Amino acid sequence: ATPISITTAAGRGAQAGVLVKDAEALERMAAVDTLIVDKTGTLTEGKPKLTDVVALGELGEDAVLSVAAALERGSEHPLAEAILEGGVARGVDKQNAEGFEAVTGKGVTGTVAGRKTALGNAALMADLGVDALNAESAADALRTDGKTVMFVAVNDELAGLVAVADPIKASTEGAIADLHRQGLRIIMATGDDERTAQAVASKLGIDEVRAGILPAGKKALVDELHAAGASVAMAGDGVNDAPALAAANVGIAMGTGADVAVESAGITLLGGDLTGIVRARTLALATIRNIK
Ligand code: ADP
Ligand code: MG
Repeated sequence: ATPISITTAAGRGAQAGVLVKDAEALERMAAVDTLIVDKTGTLTEGKPKLTDVVALGELGEDAVLSVAAALERGSEHPLAEAILEGGVARGVDKQNAEGFEAVTGKGVTGTVAGRKTALGNAALMADLGVDALNAESAADALRTDGKTVMFVAVNDELAGLVAVADPIKASTEGAIADLHRQGLRIIMATGDDERTAQAVASKLGIDEVRAGILPAGKKALVDELHAAGASVAMAGDGVNDAPALAAANVGIAMGTGADVAVESAGITLLGGDLTGIVRARTLALATIRNIK
């Protein structure tokens, strides 16, 4: 590798919002055949909006949403904002939660008005021993629309569902087509439900979906792909993504990401969307061509 073309590439990259750690990172980016991307905030806006509230027990819709909002007041998850804003928009009673706890990749729990409550995915309900079976068909209808469904439990009984939709970014579809033209197989990794993830993936022509992945599972996915002979670029934005970014052939820290993600990455993008990955790959391929 001639240092001059790498330096030129680094300069050109910086202008395009692509920061490259070293020459090797760019060379490895040209050589990868598989790209793992997150759904929320990468493919989608990352700003979900409340779309549905379903009452399934003794509480009415507004009361179900009121419990959900009380639990989310202590959470920093993007889903929390959607539910809080939805509660304000629908003017539901404002309640507080005591003993709030976030369960990573699953949801939140706490006590509201003296009652044990929980909000989260099917895995959280299973952990708590809440029977959510009779809500499955209602939940699936919402998921088939690409919505994320959360179950609300009160005193270990299912009280209802809330659903949010996170719009796909305007730039995503074109970027996926570009990445396919650049020869990449694209895998969506998400903590979201399988059906919701599939609905979004099939709209976009994503090659493969890994749903229900806990943050730690992303590194296991990278390891699994390596064992199958793939050369992997992994894009992520959070503290939880650092092990997977470090394990990948190229870790790509996305935009507004945590510092620890940037430290583990070979490439850092200043924007949070897929077009940055297209630019990084274009730059890598052009640089390798110049060197050879
Ligand atoms: P993503 O891969 O989209 O970032 P997460 O791993 O953060 O998703 O969460 C996976 C799933 O766990 C969510 O789709 C949701 O069902 C549930 N969940 C996680 N955090 C919360 C929360 N604060 N409130 C409600 N549900 C949550
Ligand atoms: Mg996430």
